[in-house]
Order: sequence, then structure tokens, then C-alpha cells
Amino acid sequence: MISSRVSGFYRWSLGERARWVARWGGPSDGVAAERVNILCGPNGLDLTRADQMVENVIGLHGLPLGVALNFVINGRDVLVPMAVEEPSVIAGASFAARLVREGGGFQTDSSDSEMIGQIQVIDVVDVWSARFKLLSAREELLQCANECDPVIVGLGGGARDLEVRVLESTPIGAMLVVHLVFDCLDAMGANTVNTVCEALAPRIEEMTGGRVGLRILSNLADRRLARARCMIPVEALDTDDFAGEQVARGIVEAWALASVDPYRAATHNKGIMNGVDAVVVATGNDWRAIEAGAHAYAAQSGRYCSLSAWERDNQGNLIGTLEMPMAVGIVGGATRVHPVAGLAVELLGVQSARELAEVIVAVGLAQNLAALRALATEGIQRGHMRLHARQVALAVGAAEHEVASVVERMIAEGHVRPDRAEAILAEHRREVNPGSHQRGQ
Ligand code: NAD
Repeated sequence: MISSRVSGFYRWSLGERARWVARWGGPSDGVAAERVNILCGPNGLDLTRADQMVENVIGLHGLPLGVALNFVINGRDVLVPMAVEEPSVIAGASFAARLVREGGGFQTDSSDSEMIGQIQVIDVVDVWSARFKLLSAREELLQCANECDPVIVGLGGGARDLEVRVLESTPIGAMLVVHLVFDCLDAMGANTVNTVCEALAPRIEEMTGGRVGLRILSNLADRRLARARCMIPVEALDTDDFAGEQVARGIVEAWALASVDPYRAATHNKGIMNGVDAVVVATGNDWRAIEAGAHAYAAQSGRYCSLSAWERDNQGNLIGTLEMPMAVGIVGGATRVHPVAGLAVELLGVQSARELAEVIVAVGLAQNLAALRALATEGIQRGHMRLHARQVALAVGAAEHEVASVVERMIAEGHVRPDRAEAILAEHRREVNPGSHQRGQ
């Protein structure tokens, strides 16, 4: 088994990296060659497939796909595909995973894949009595729900519970909302749950004498949680300028602010979502659903706060935990339609949606650690700026062979901005080719 701990990976050529990744998991030569074709050859997402996926297709919109290294999750070496446009995210996750590796890697866990479908009932005269009737008919309603998806039910999933909430005071008066809890197994489940909610609606109207309004799943998937934990030995946090003890303390202090202050918590959680979304996108999952669920969950106490927690154990080691809703699938949606998404799931080596959810939460925790460690030491910009500078240089039109000198000069002068990049690029071109500006190039 190849290890996900690789040093100097970023110095390899793109082709070398793709060929190495294609060998991950020990496939046959043919499968490895096909993987390379999907990653950087002709077999990725093409226009024909894209045209079948959404409406009014006019082209493709690409994103860089990278892999985060060094991850050990529940004792298994994992290679993490990440699709993201922001520099430093993949490097940050890989760096943090290396620190966590020194403490034995991530441990993860998850609940069943239960989603909640909501059925809104309006114009009910006696809401409490209607609630009573619905709960008394629980078995009948669950059975009716199970008839909608024999595939999921046959695989061991299906309707699990029925809850009825009375919302006494809304802008239009009292209403009921029925929650159907449905175990979606390896599907994200939105289509499945929406279908079930629509099927239950007529019977619910009959039972309550009311009128059904909305019939749709809730993205606050608080019965579908994944969690990760990591331990970092304090010595592993030593840097040239900071003792590990100081770094661990700084990380806990940084988290403390996010745990009470929504202004900080929003940015803290954004850092977590940098890692989460990149894997969600790479695997073809619905990142809007994940974002909506994450932020609603972070605000569930009535005050928006941090999704993660950081503390010290009695040996002084740094301990991080993260728990959040994670409604992702490995069947359905785009996961099996988009060739790169399919390959991303294959490379992750996950056999179930729960396993995928757990990997994603571990990556979110790693990303959180990377950001907090930088904030608690040299500040976020130092490590980020060199990578950011590349993007700034490219944005002002630097060609690949010009990027390095523009980046070096911006870093040296300490100003990484488009106006400086433009001026430096013009200067560089004059130096390389003194007559060029006179010819209007
Ligand atoms: P889907 O309907 O394409 O696939 C799910 C189906 O796959 C199941 O109903 C089942 O019949 C079958 N299946 C086969 N093997 C299975 C297994 N092992 N476990 C579970 N099911 C299995 O997809 P979906 O997951 O129901 O819906 C996901 C899509 O819905 C995403 O594209 C999402 O963007 C979209 N969506 C989201 C929202 C929202 O989040 N609010 C709303 C509407 C649609």
C-alpha cells in the first residue's frame, strides 16, 4: 500500500502527480491509464455529458482539482481529492494532516443517513387535535412513505420516524409541520425525500382537514451528523519562532473567540468550509445543501457559533473536534454522472455515504487547524501570500514563464496587489526585451 505521506509532491510535474495518483489503491495498468485520461486527458466531463446534466448548456466551467496528502483516518491512509479555486487550501489541509498524523491521525464517526422531510399543513381548525391524529397514524404514514422507494427500503433504509410540530404563532396564524425522518443510506436523498413528502400529502390533508403547502426536505440535516477528532502532540506544533506550547495555547484562545462571537465564528466556519466544500465539489455533491446545513446547525442554539472545538488534554496535547450535518451521497445526483466525481469517490476508497461524510468532516477539521495555527503564529498572510501572488500575477496577464519573477518581486517588496503586479510585469518585460514597449507589446 502506498502511503499518503509524500514529501515534495508539489515539486513534481503535473503529469507525474496525476500518474502517481492514478496508481492509488493498486489498480491494473488499464484502470490507471483510464484514470489519467479522466484527470487530465479527454475522458473528463465533456459537453455531451454536461448537456445532459443541466439546462441551456453553453460550455464547461473548470476548477483546479488537487489532492491533499498525509491524511490518516481511522488508521487508513486516505488521499483526498479537492476541487477549489482558492490558493493555500490544499496545502493547508495537507500540512495540518501531517501534524495530526503525528498524533495517530483522525478518528471519525457518524449517525445514520437520516434526512428530514417537511410537510406544511395550513388552515387546520384544531391543530393539537390534528397533531394527535397524525401521531396515532404514525405506522400507516411510515408504511406509505416506504412504498415510494422500494430500492432504498430493500437495502435497509426507509422511513424511521414521524414528528409533528405545532407552530402556533406564524405571520399567518397557527400551522402544523410534519417531519418525516427517512434513512437515505448512500444517497444524499433530496429527490427521494421530496417524492415521499409529496406522496404523503393527500393522506395528511384527509386526516387533518387542513391544506398541505410545502412538501420538501430540510437542509438542516441535524439527524445526519458526521464528526471527527484529532490529537496533536504539543511538540509537533513547534516552529522556528514559536514553542508548541505557545501555538497550542494560541489555537485554543482563537477558538474561544469563535465559540462566543458570531463575527469571528462566521470566518472560523468559513475556514472549515474551505476544506469541506472542496471535497464535496470534487465528489459531485451538492455544496449548497452542505453550506445551508452547516450554517443553520451552527446557529441552532439561537446564536451562531463555531462548528469545531479546541481544547488541551491533561498531557497538554491539542485536541480538536468537529461535528456537523453532512448530507452527501455516493449514488444519485451528479456523483456517478460526472466522470471526475466518480473517480474522486473511487480514490477516496469510501464504500458508503457515511464514510464519505466522515472523511469530509476530517478534512474540515484539518483545514480549521491549518488556519488557526497560522493565525496563532505568523498570521494567515505569510504562507498564503506566495500562493496568492501567483494568482495576482496570472490575473494581470503574466505568462507562465513570467509568473515566478513577478511573484518574487512582489513578495520581496511586501506588496501583493494587482497594480504592483502590473507595474512589475511591465518592468520585467522591458528588462527581458528592452525594445518591446516601443513596439507597443
Ligand atoms: P437520486 O434520486 O438521483 O438517487 C437516489 C436513489 O438512488 C434512491 O431513491 C434509490 O432508489 C437509489 N439507490 C440505489 N442504491 C442506493 C443506496 N445504496 N442508497 C440509497 N439509495 C440508493 O438522488 P437523491 O440523493 O435523492 O437526490 C440528490 C439530488 O437532489 C442532488 O443532485 C441535489 O442537488 C438535489 N436536490 C437538492 C435539494 C436540496 O438540498 N434542498 C432539493 C432538490 C434536489
